[in-house]
Amino acid sequence: MRTNLSVEEALEAVLEAAQGELSVEELPLKEAFGRVLAEDLASLVDHPDQDDTAIDGYACRAEDTLGASPEAPVRLRVIGEAPAGRPFPGEVGKGEAVAVYTGAPIPKGADAVVRVEDTRREGEEVLLFAPASPKDIRPKGDDLRRGEVYLRRGDLLTPGRLGLAAAMGHPRLRVFRRPRVGILSTGDEVVEPGEPLPFGGVYNSNAYSLLGLVLEAGGEPVLLGKVPDDPEAVLARLGEAGPLDLLLTSGGVSMGEYDVVRKVLERHGEVVFWKVRQQPGGPLLFARLGGLPVLGLPGNPVSSMVTFFLYGRPFLFRLLKRTEPPYGRLRARALTPFKGAKGRKVFRRGVLSVAEKTVRSTGNQSSGVLRSMAFGNALVVLPPDQDAREGEEVEVIPLTFVP
Ligand code: AMP
Ligand code: MG
Repeated sequence: MRTNLSVEEALEAVLEAAQGELSVEELPLKEAFGRVLAEDLASLVDHPDQDDTAIDGYACRAEDTLGASPEAPVRLRVIGEAPAGRPFPGEVGKGEAVAVYTGAPIPKGADAVVRVEDTRREGEEVLLFAPASPKDIRPKGDDLRRGEVYLRRGDLLTPGRLGLAAAMGHPRLRVFRRPRVGILSTGDEVVEPGEPLPFGGVYNSNAYSLLGLVLEAGGEPVLLGKVPDDPEAVLARLGEAGPLDLLLTSGGVSMGEYDVVRKVLERHGEVVFWKVRQQPGGPLLFARLGGLPVLGLPGNPVSSMVTFFLYGRPFLFRLLKRTEPPYGRLRARALTPFKGAKGRKVFRRGVLSVAEKTVRSTGNQSSGVLRSMAFGNALVVLPPDQDAREGEEVEVIPLTFVP
């Protein structure tokens, strides 16, 4: 077992375990939002499939309209119309025009369009107050070219990408199965909300913040409830879990007599590492139980969320072959001081303004104060042994799940 790892070493060890191939399922478009593509997607069509008009107006020959102006309008004969989806069957000759509507193919013979705002219709004729121009013609394939790959395996299906898949002509998409992530809370003092809280008890908040984090990272949470600090109870509950791709436990990984998760994994699994030089989240444990990777998250509500975000989220991204990184980094000016820690990398909670490039503390930074994760939208990263003074530039990791 390794111990006292740096954050980077710990992340590497966790990612090394994200080996499995997730199976693939095929979903109709309407069910694929938020899923991750399992294959490259090429367009089945050109779009537009021929030159079309980007505006409502009249398609004609540019040379017929040279010099048209309000003082010297040009008069053309209207020989028909082409709404979107109904191409004009004939050809535009000299001195002729076809009324066209956005998305309609440019009729044969025409090479320019004049905006309807620059015209006046007079029966079978139209007066043009400006020359027709080719700039509002969208050339064939301007948006999509048949056979070209626009979406790739590992791309998250965002609203724009879901629309793009539809525009390319795909009714169904092959996506990765969502990784099943077990969530087990441990602790004699932990009680489900809705039950009366005994003296010294604490409501099980970790299960629900982790559920949200797992969903947000593209996983399928499997709530395994809570167990007391008893090895037999932990083992029994895990036995009922069904197949999982990752197990999250919360609590029971510190130094104490009652730190049951650590004991169970030491005895029945293989502990890959225990303890990382970071704060919060120092007691983090990573193990394998049979083939199952287990992230033993510390019980403090902030610690469990921060460690999932820093290690669990990248693990799921790797399994899902996500093309985007699990989190970004930027630099911002500290509006408040942030306190570092001796020998540990520190992740303080902050309120980041992307527009101002500033970040301020959420206030009480205790690992037990969950409000910092509820209203903070960023982690302020401090290298070991370093405080940040007010006005100093600091590294910031935006929390993707806070608006
Ligand atoms: P532990 O890591 O088990 O030593 O727990 C550290 C702190 O986190 C203790 O104050 C626990 O009461 C608290 N805690 C543990 N599990 C949970 C949970 N599921 N929800 C909220 N707080 C918890
Ligand atoms: Mg405990």
